[in-house]
Amino acid sequence: MSTWILDPSQILLLTAIAVVSALGYIGYLTAALASKENTVNQMQAEHQKLMRSFNELDEQAKLIVRTDLELNKAQEELDKRLNGINALQRTSRQISQALNESEIFQKLSPELFEELGFSMVLVAAFEDGKSRKRASIGIPEEKTSPLLAKFEKADHLKTALRESHAFSSINASRKSKEEIAGVFEAEHFILAPIVTQNGTIGFVFVGNRYNAPAVTQGDEELIGILASQIGQNIENVHLFEKVFRSSQELELKVKERTKQLAGALQQVEEINERKSEFISAVSHELRTPLTSIKGYAAILMAGKIGEVPDAVKERLGKINTHSDNLVALINNLLDIARIESGRVEMKFEPHPVKTVMDNISDLLAPQIKDKDIKLNINVPAAIKDIYIDISQAERVFINLLSNAVKFTPKAGTITIAASPVMEKGFITFHVMDTGIGIPPEDLGKLFNEFYRVDNEINQNVKGTGLGLTLAKNIVEAHHGKIWVKSQVGSGTTFSITLPASAEAYAANVKTEKII
Ligand code: ADP
Repeated sequence: MSTWILDPSQILLLTAIAVVSALGYIGYLTAALASKENTVNQMQAEHQKLMRSFNELDEQAKLIVRTDLELNKAQEELDKRLNGINALQRTSRQISQALNESEIFQKLSPELFEELGFSMVLVAAFEDGKSRKRASIGIPEEKTSPLLAKFEKADHLKTALRESHAFSSINASRKSKEEIAGVFEAEHFILAPIVTQNGTIGFVFVGNRYNAPAVTQGDEELIGILASQIGQNIENVHLFEKVFRSSQELELKVKERTKQLAGALQQVEEINERKSEFISAVSHELRTPLTSIKGYAAILMAGKIGEVPDAVKERLGKINTHSDNLVALINNLLDIARIESGRVEMKFEPHPVKTVMDNISDLLAPQIKDKDIKLNINVPAAIKDIYIDISQAERVFINLLSNAVKFTPKAGTITIAASPVMEKGFITFHVMDTGIGIPPEDLGKLFNEFYRVDNEINQNVKGTGLGLTLAKNIVEAHHGKIWVKSQVGSGTTFSITLPASAEAYAANVKTEKII
């Protein structure tokens, strides 16, 4: 067996090698340790980062849940409000159709307040200084009177309401809350004034007893709207009642007045008829002696009874002229009476306008020539016939033309013009002169019997004042109209309408105004 004996240098070498190896290993271990620690640190940092992110996520999740809850709540609130608005809209429509005040209150249905989420409702009106119940829901009948009596004593509340102040359990002061809770026995409430143009006329109270959900801003707004709509509709029905009442009064007055007028008209017609009968009778009675007077005057004039001196002849001539005038006047009176009462039988026929114009201008040619007056006749070619009683219609034209001649100074102009446009089948004729004219205050009376304007010509020239009355009667018997326009110093225009055909005459009733 061999034994290795190491010399000291070998031992030293080996020791050195061992030490170096150990140191190397330690170095390696240390490095490995350091790298592990590094990794641990990094992991810790990552861990912390993760924790932070996790916390943040947690916060966000909580926020989402909170937001979701709030959103749900808001949605609920919104739904409630929408339902409330719908119910309010329905109620508004209904109360706006009410025709009187009590109908408005009847239309405040329990469904509306149910939708709005209130179990107690009291609507009251202030009348003669007292509050009176108009509608109530959820408050027993026997409780309303004591409740209103308590309200009467709550001066602070009454005054505030009268000043259009509203209350709600979310905004009222503690004092008001206590006062309202004392009167209405409600924890959650809205108390809104009913306001009209005349101020506060009542209130709307809605509320819930204890353990009910609190009222919201939205509820407050809706009840405010409801109260103001009640106020507005009360004003409307009052206005409607006023208008309705006054229209009924007016209708009654109109009926009464119409009755009176019908009575008066009948009286006038009777008087007119009696007047026509009277004139007719008197005229007949006058005509007979007048004919005798005229006859005796003629016999005397003819010298059949004896020689008549010239002076007597002259007087007899005057008796004859005056008698003629009187006969003409009586005949006119008789005609007016007869035409007015429809006793004159008119013979309507179509006649060419031109022939009528020629006839009358021929008839009055001497007077026209005497005064050197220029006469224009303007009838458009399109105007052919008029449907008239020729003898009566000619009397009208003769009267208008002879008046025009009478009241127009020498060398003046008279124009007879037919309007080219027909109104309802009627032709309008204008007789225009450049004469003295008629003062405005006389114009309205010209067609009255015996009316003559007080002027120099009338003072010197005799006349009856019956010509225009007769003309009016004749024109109206043709279903036409007569009117006058005049300017003092410039001239006068008389206008008449006459039918162009039988159809036009028949279609236009006597009383209807054509122009
Ligand atoms: P009379 O001619 O007999 O007086 P009328 O009834 O024909 O009666 O006329 C009434 C009055 O109307 C006349 O007196 C006259 O004052 C007034 N009048 C009528 N036509 C004219 C006219 N063209 N211009 C001015 N005045 C007139």
